[in-house]
Amino acid sequence: LMIVLFMPYENALQKIPDGLYQDLQHTNLAMSLCLTTIFAFILHKTLDNHELKITEEMKLSETIYDTSLDAVFIVHADTGNLTGCNMRALELFSIEQKRDIRGIPAERMLGIQMSRSLEMYRASDVEEQTAWYGNMELARPLGSPFHAHVNLVPFQHQQQRYVKISILDITEIKTAEFEIIRAKERAEKATRVKSRFLSMISHELRTPLNGIVGTTELLLQEGYREAQRPYMDVLKHSSEHMLRLINDILDFSKLEAGKMELEQSPIHLSEFLKKISAPFAHDSHTGVPLEFEIDDRLDIEVCSDELRLNQILNNLLSNARKFTSHGRIILKARQESCSDTNLRVCFTVSDTGIGIHPGKIRSIFESFTQADSETTRRFGGTGLGLAISKRLVERMGGLLEVRSTPGMGSDFFFSIELKINRSIPLQSQVIKKEMMAPLSGLRVIIAEDNPVNMLVVRRFLQKWKVETIEARNGRELVDHHTKAPVDLLLVDLDMPEMDGVQAVSIIRKKDPIIPVIAFTAAIYEDIGTDLKQKGFNDFIPKPFKPEMLYDKIRTLTGYRIGASENHS
Ligand code: ADP
Repeated sequence: LMIVLFMPYENALQKIPDGLYQDLQHTNLAMSLCLTTIFAFILHKTLDNHELKITEEMKLSETIYDTSLDAVFIVHADTGNLTGCNMRALELFSIEQKRDIRGIPAERMLGIQMSRSLEMYRASDVEEQTAWYGNMELARPLGSPFHAHVNLVPFQHQQQRYVKISILDITEIKTAEFEIIRAKERAEKATRVKSRFLSMISHELRTPLNGIVGTTELLLQEGYREAQRPYMDVLKHSSEHMLRLINDILDFSKLEAGKMELEQSPIHLSEFLKKISAPFAHDSHTGVPLEFEIDDRLDIEVCSDELRLNQILNNLLSNARKFTSHGRIILKARQESCSDTNLRVCFTVSDTGIGIHPGKIRSIFESFTQADSETTRRFGGTGLGLAISKRLVERMGGLLEVRSTPGMGSDFFFSIELKINRSIPLQSQVIKKEMMAPLSGLRVIIAEDNPVNMLVVRRFLQKWKVETIEARNGRELVDHHTKAPVDLLLVDLDMPEMDGVQAVSIIRKKDPIIPVIAFTAAIYEDIGTDLKQKGFNDFIPKPFKPEMLYDKIRTLTGYRIGASENHS
């Protein structure tokens, strides 16, 4: 059209004949048409490709959006209405089609808690808005509530503000968590029941055992026919063994429950080591001697739990004695380091006994485990000693280890840090020197319902020339205490009619000074503190050790040997 309109019919240089002009015009027209078609085709193709690309990209985003395991909702921040969601959202909230949720208030679909969280995006500026995440309980419109982990992410599109809500259903995780908590609670309850059961059993066993141990002790001290001596020994050893087993089981359950509290009392180290090893000094059957290698620098007073340190070394020494038939046993104590306040000591018990197979080394520290079943048959034992010792050493901040060669012997060793005691020297040593001297002039009320236990305690007190008054229950104890002045009360906790605690609380109202010792077979955690709060000055566990009873009576009454005449 342009050529027809603007081409001059003839130009200045030459005259174009009509025929040529017609040809030229047609050629031009055809070329223009071709070019236009080609351009149009290329343009169309390019646009088509772009469209395809855009559609593909949109499809990809849609797939990512719809295959997400999070349920995603888009909310218009200003109106609070839903504008879209993904497939998982349809599934989770039982919605049929995406368009069903468009324009619905988010509160109606996702509940009041979600709508409150969305409020913050309505009020604030876009620049100040940040993502939020947390757990909440959501309710489906027609279903049960469920636990969800929610992410809220604000964004802008075409001048409009939106919030993307991602919801992850964590009901299963929560249920599992709940199950774990319930299982933990059940296990804790079972442990509590076990501890209570063990404490009760030990109480029940200790009471008759108290009678057996005490009576045997009395018989051994007071006289028996010579022919009865072997039976007396069997009686003594068996009852003491049974007591050790009960104590081991109790200690182990306490350590397992993490309830073993260590005391800090002064100990003179080298004296202590000699004292505890005295019973192991010589074995009349095997003739294996016990030798000492104690560092001279350990002639020092430290603070530790004497009872527990004794228990560890005692167990190592009795094992060494048990498993060594020739050679020697050595108790070594070596100072490793020393500061102004602390001392690190390494204790070793070495023997030349049967040794332990390398494969068994780890298992001997486990509870109720012995190196082989033959051991039980030959030497007895429960397999608890090392398990208890290992845990006790750990409670003291050390590690119990062993080096052993089968047939050659074993070295059990541990090193612990001990506080140096800089206070006044030990008093107990002074008492030990005048051990068991008569306590004439003292008057003690014994409150005990079990006749055998009463007989045993009374007999010991009478041996020490202590005057005794007997009460068979708490009521009688209160009566006797009001009638006659006495120096000390020895009170069993568990008695009929009125128990020891009730009786002592009545007595304490009138007499806050009189020393009272609880006499108990039930040993539980914090017993010392608990009994002090209940008005007792101290306690003696049953079966009692006569020396302990003697020491406590002397300490609490402030009795001085030789001053009995002045004693009121
Ligand atoms: P128990 O001695 O009551 O059986 P322990 O826990 O004290 O329990 O010891 C566990 C096992 O370790 C023993 O049965 C024994 O097999 C082994 N064992 C411990 N000490 C020694 C030792 N000094 N020599 C050889 N074996 C030992």
